[in-house]
Amino acid sequence: MSPVYQDSKKDLVHILLVSFIGQGHVNPLLRLGNLLASSGFLVTFSSCSEVGNSMRKANNNIDELVPVGDGMIRFEFFDDGLPESDPRRHDLDFYMPHLELHGKEAVTGIVKKHEKEGRPVSCIINNPFIPWVSDIAEALSIRNAVLWVQSCACFSAYYHYHNKLSQFPSESEPEIDVQLPSMPLLKHDEIPSFLHPSTPYPALRRTILAQFKNLSKPFCVLVETFQELESEVIDYMSKLCPIKAIGPLFKNPKSQLSNIQGDCLKPVDDCIDFLNSKSPSSVVYISFGSVISMNQKQTNELAQGLLNSGVSFLWVFRPPLPGFDVAVLPEKFLEAAGDKGKVVQWCSQKQVLASPAVACFLTHCGWNSTLEALTTGVPVITYPAWGDQVTNAKFLVDVLKVGVRLSRGNQSKKNVISRDDIEKSLREATIGENAAEIKRNALKWKEAAEDAVAEGGSSDRNLKEFVDKLMMN
Ligand code: UDP
Repeated sequence: MSPVYQDSKKDLVHILLVSFIGQGHVNPLLRLGNLLASSGFLVTFSSCSEVGNSMRKANNNIDELVPVGDGMIRFEFFDDGLPESDPRRHDLDFYMPHLELHGKEAVTGIVKKHEKEGRPVSCIINNPFIPWVSDIAEALSIRNAVLWVQSCACFSAYYHYHNKLSQFPSESEPEIDVQLPSMPLLKHDEIPSFLHPSTPYPALRRTILAQFKNLSKPFCVLVETFQELESEVIDYMSKLCPIKAIGPLFKNPKSQLSNIQGDCLKPVDDCIDFLNSKSPSSVVYISFGSVISMNQKQTNELAQGLLNSGVSFLWVFRPPLPGFDVAVLPEKFLEAAGDKGKVVQWCSQKQVLASPAVACFLTHCGWNSTLEALTTGVPVITYPAWGDQVTNAKFLVDVLKVGVRLSRGNQSKKNVISRDDIEKSLREATIGENAAEIKRNALKWKEAAEDAVAEGGSSDRNLKEFVDKLMMN
């Protein structure tokens, strides 16, 4: 019996969380883990050792049993059978079935070990891309729930596509619009791009749709959104699937209680001195999340657009993942920006967005970044690349009206947005004729999100109902 295990309170119901790799998956599931632990569960957070290694770099206490409110959280990582440097890790056609094979055995082993040690797992919760976790739960007769880490609108798009309930673009009709129930009309390039016949990433389409094949297995699908944000589509989808909107998780103070960070890179500089030196609403924050990177041509255009605009900026310029575009900052760019600009490899985005100095966020519109901006009251400039990002951008600009559209998506990486368009979008979002209205709308969503997670709010009620079900062991 491990020492960590012996220390745990004996009467806690044990929940196992299993996460796919990637910041956009780890962050929301870890936040849910903290919330569940604070409600009085023993939570084991598990993922493959690649995630474990980066979390160890960002946290000192990851190998301990961490008290959180009335419960505890602990971490248990498994070997996925590939060295971290193996390039096949980035070939999804190879890696996804490989992960399934090794992950199934490893996660089953974790569950059986805990059963033997007298702390049986009573529910397994996974995020998308690892739908085989639902198979393990079924085989071991354990309850399963899923945390969907994208919008309910995207959930509906995948659901309708998988079940052939609506017409989507096809090889013969690639440019048709898509009308889904209780949603605005989506143009062919506004549906999640992996559903488009021209996607260069069919492996990602297969992977994400696999979750929908397995949708009869989880007793509940928790959605990282909130009722007021997507009320019509949530109401509609609730009639078809057992979904519960419980977000935005990061706004829930209990989701941060353990202070454990899921960061894949450790912020070396908190950027706060830089932001504190700037006047209110004067800085554009730029980040494209943990996966996407820009090619050299686009990097040059963005850099020049920033300099031409004269706006202060904080730019997260991450080392690219293997297989993605490699680019460097143009020569003398930083000298030319002087004290107007700061470039970092990673930052605490939550902390940055909360700074009064931030005027707007030039974002790739990953769902976490979308929710974090929206519910911190920060207007956006949308620069989506692929997947749900293009749909999120559509909602941010046309439905929620909190931003300015810079790009319609670029999954084939052919289009380059010019420096002039970048400069124009910066002006539009900060001092343009609609800037004040955009900011007002953003602040409205911030307030709505705070109400949703507050005691008695829509997400709080849904989460309590879910917790009550988990307690019925
Ligand atoms: N993030 C961060 N620091 C950075 C860049 C990103 O903490 O410098 C976090 C961000 O707050 C968000 C996550 O990384 O929670 C990125 O998730 P998202 O869904 O936006 O994009 P993905 O990385 O999945 O494309």
